[in-house]
Amino acid sequence: MSFNKIIGQKIIIESLRNAVKNNKVSNGYIFSGPEGCGKKLMAHTFAMALNCSGTADHRPCGSCSSCIRTSSGNHPDVGIVRPDGQSIKIRQIRYIISETAKKPFENGYKVIIFENAEKMTHDAQDAFLKTLEEPPDNTVFILLVENYSLLLPAIVSRCQVHRFKPINASELRDFLGTRYDCSSAEIESAIRHSKGVVGRALELLTDKESFKIRAAYIDILEKALLGSCSEALLLASEKIASREEAEKFLEFSLSWVRDLIVLRENKEAYGSLIINTDNSEMQSKHNSALTEDELNSIIEIIKKTIMYIRHNVGIKNSIEVMLFNIAEVSSYNG
Ligand SMILES: [Zn+2]
Repeated sequence: MSFNKIIGQKIIIESLRNAVKNNKVSNGYIFSGPEGCGKKLMAHTFAMALNCSGTADHRPCGSCSSCIRTSSGNHPDVGIVRPDGQSIKIRQIRYIISETAKKPFENGYKVIIFENAEKMTHDAQDAFLKTLEEPPDNTVFILLVENYSLLLPAIVSRCQVHRFKPINASELRDFLGTRYDCSSAEIESAIRHSKGVVGRALELLTDKESFKIRAAYIDILEKALLGSCSEALLLASEKIASREEAEKFLEFSLSWVRDLIVLRENKEAYGSLIINTDNSEMQSKHNSALTEDELNSIIEIIKKTIMYIRHNVGIKNSIEVMLFNIAEVSSYNG
């Protein structure tokens, strides 16, 4: 692994490289961004660079003994803290404090990576803050968070914060296009659904199952639009059981109907504005059959359902009502 293998995040890489090269390393780092944006990969690469015995310009080299042990998870000075159950508990922090009080086993840095650091309990954060206030020598804490506002402000202010940016479409296209045996429409669709998060795009492409699920979602929506409510309900009951599945379905429905509206306004939109590029034919069919008012009403129906689900209204009931309402609004229904 080297920094060159990471897609995007050039500014962060530059900053971390310079810190290693010039030996100006902070005690605390916060890597903030959505799941799948590459925080973990960046943290492990940085940990490798910190202890690499390669030349200053080429750390991590990926081939020295330290690099090899870091990448296989066997470096004695690199530790990882993960939530134990729902949270990172104070006893885990106490253990880390006692470990970092000892000298590194080797000559480099002790690096402690906190996964889901926002899951530290309040007590754990308090204890950790005390360590950050008087950090042990040659120790680097890297906190990986989706949202750093959940950390105590005093922790944030003592760390160097790096916000991970969405990867732009052309970088993602270059990366995905050479690695996956998928049609370009599938790749384009994955890029748009990923919102610039590499992990999400990878998930979509590596897991062909997700394409099948999307096809089922479209089937449900189409049946409702055509007024075949009982078929739509039957399919929905097979495919959507959990809250998570319901949320995925609703998010997808929203983007799919939104695409119909974009297409209505701009028939040339396939190149840039459409999210679900892999369903172009079907979309143009619905687009010519539904009016703009109908589409806007359907968007409202979906949004309302999302709100119900967030307020813990029953999933099955909410989805059923949504599909009935869509069928009623749709002019396919006659
Ligand atoms: Zn190395």
